Amino acid sequence: MKIKFLNKIRNNVRNFIHKNLVFLVPTLIYDNIEKITPQKLRELNVDTILLDLDNTLVPWNKKQIPNAICKYLSSLKEAGFKICIVSNALPIRVKKISEELNIPYIALAAKPSTRPLRKAIKILNSNIENTVIIGDQLFTDILAGNRLGIKTILVRPLAKFELVTSKFIRLIEKKILSYLAKKNYISSKEVKIEK
Ligand SMILES: [Mg+2]
Repeated sequence: MKIKFLNKIRNNVRNFIHKNLVFLVPTLIYDNIEKITPQKLRELNVDTILLDLDNTLVPWNKKQIPNAICKYLSSLKEAGFKICIVSNALPIRVKKISEELNIPYIALAAKPSTRPLRKAIKILNSNIENTVIIGDQLFTDILAGNRLGIKTILVRPLAKFELVTSKFIRLIEKKILSYLAKKNYISSKEVKIEK
């Protein structure tokens, strides 16, 4: 009786994961943000970019954006893209960096909530169809973007050394990504791992 019950729960959990796995599939995967060219973004029909901060633009333990990424963001702005930082980090950290870059921001965003994403799209006077979110985490950035129905780009995290909790999450993310590839979820959504 007890085993039957446990099996039922296990099957329910399994079904739930399968049904929701599609929300963890990024549109594209890149090694780092600088490799995402304006041309590629235009091919995706994108003119609006929502950016994660920690480990996408800045290594999680650092206060300053690497020069190369600063230049990259300027080039995107010059090319006419609308940009907003959407970060789960504290306002004090996000504000300082956003002001240096002269880019609007939303802090304490609570991704995977879609609310801050909608708010950012509104601030930029844009729409869901032409927006992409770029971030390093499946369970926050990619999940939030897919739930809202915008395009999603996963980048590899900038810092290799992280808190123990993040390391644990990375391990699960890695397992999910290889599972997605094995089950052809990734190729079925034309996800490319661009080097
Ligand atoms: Mg991040």
